[in-house]
Amino acid sequence: MEREFDAIIAGLGPAGAAAALELCRAGARVLVLDGSAGRGKPCGGCLSARGLEALAWLEPPAWLRAYPVRRLWIGYPGRPAAAHTSSRPGAYLVERGRLDQWLARQARGAGVTVVESRARGVARQGDIWRMEADGGPWRARWLLDAGGARSLVSRRLGLEGGGWRFAALVREIPLPERLRPALSEAAFLELGGVAGGYGWAFDRGGVLNLGIAGLLGRDQGGTGGLRRRWEAFTRRLGLSGVGAPRGALIPCPHRRRIRVCGEGWAALGDAAGLADPVLGEGIAQAVVSGRLAAQAVLAGDLGLYQRAVEDTLLRDHCHSRLLARLIYRVPQVFHALARRRPGGVELGFNWLRGEMAPGDIWLCLLRGLTGLSPLLDSYPASYYSSPLVPRPNRRG
Ligand SMILES: Cc1cc2nc3c(=O)[nH]c(=O)nc-3n(C[C@H](O)[C@H](O)[C@H](O)COP(=O)(O)OP(=O)(O)OC[C@H]3O[C@@H](n4cnc5c(N)ncnc54)[C@H](O)[C@@H]3O)c2cc1C
Repeated sequence: MEREFDAIIAGLGPAGAAAALELCRAGARVLVLDGSAGRGKPCGGCLSARGLEALAWLEPPAWLRAYPVRRLWIGYPGRPAAAHTSSRPGAYLVERGRLDQWLARQARGAGVTVVESRARGVARQGDIWRMEADGGPWRARWLLDAGGARSLVSRRLGLEGGGWRFAALVREIPLPERLRPALSEAAFLELGGVAGGYGWAFDRGGVLNLGIAGLLGRDQGGTGGLRRRWEAFTRRLGLSGVGAPRGALIPCPHRRRIRVCGEGWAALGDAAGLADPVLGEGIAQAVVSGRLAAQAVLAGDLGLYQRAVEDTLLRDHCHSRLLARLIYRVPQVFHALARRRPGGVELGFNWLRGEMAPGDIWLCLLRGLTGLSPLLDSYPASYYSSPLVPRPNRRG
């Protein structure tokens, strides 16, 4: 097997697969190290409509649309939940393992070389990267780190990592009949049960995906606190004996500018900490960042990736962070508003569909809450559907 490639990608999640496919389709020789060892990623499996758009270039199969979310329930412990149904789905509930396998198959089919091994060490020799992994060492000019929230590679390269992180717990169980009518084509989000976060319940065709996510640094009640909140959340849903959840971190950017690349390397998706700070949504952002990084590699200038991420995800995440601070500081207020002003919940659908620039949320919220039409700045051709790196001379 060849040991020299144009690019080595560590990690075959959505970010790594998107980058590999974009590069390979342009004729680059790409090696992906898949360190998952068949372990599925713990995930809610909620693919926003903008996330589906981000996959449109891969002609997503019909099963990705099988479980649309048309209705949002917004709950608060001890109070009746608010419900709002939208005319079009805001998201799709998908089996995360199946999504990742489909992406991996696409990558293999496009000619990407996949080695099932973790990246164990990385070193720079001149302008070439040398990667230690099974069957290696492997060499390439470009190194893309798509190893997720606990990426070894980015830590070795000195990346600061997301300073804004959700700790999340998730478990899937068979859907109890009693919950079927409420959860059909719906998503339940509960505010106020977890400090700096929320709980969710999604029905994916008879499978109930349950989870909670809380911002680290908020009062989660010390060690075991999140676990106690998980038990309380499942009790409120009337579920007993749910079993132990799986846990993982969701890293989001903590400020407007974070470094996502350096000399010959770039971090993508969770490895760069690019999930959305409101919900911890990260699949769409991983795909977008993977494509942006690949396009910058093809242009021979990773500085373009830094700028493109700043102009898209990082710009929008500033507004998300502010919104998250508001929602999670006074969740009872947002729950009460959702009950009184369903138009506000419709904004959530607009957001998930990528029909609203997050920077427009403030004016839209004001208009939605006062009963005026929200004046949406709809941008169907958002960067989720067609991420393009800026041209080299754009600011020059
Ligand atoms: C509990 C939970 C629920 C979530 N729910 C949702 C949701 O409903 N919707 C949503 O949009 N987002 C959700 N997210 C966030 C989303 O899962 C991530 O943002 C997304 O998976 C990031 O994709 P990625 O490709 O960057 O990383 P990952 O999906 O984490 O993929 C990284 C891959 O790299 C591999 N790897 C790691 N280290 C190495 C190494 N050294 N060498 C080789 N391979 C390596 C890993 O095994 C993994 O396969 C959730 C996250 C959690 C934790």
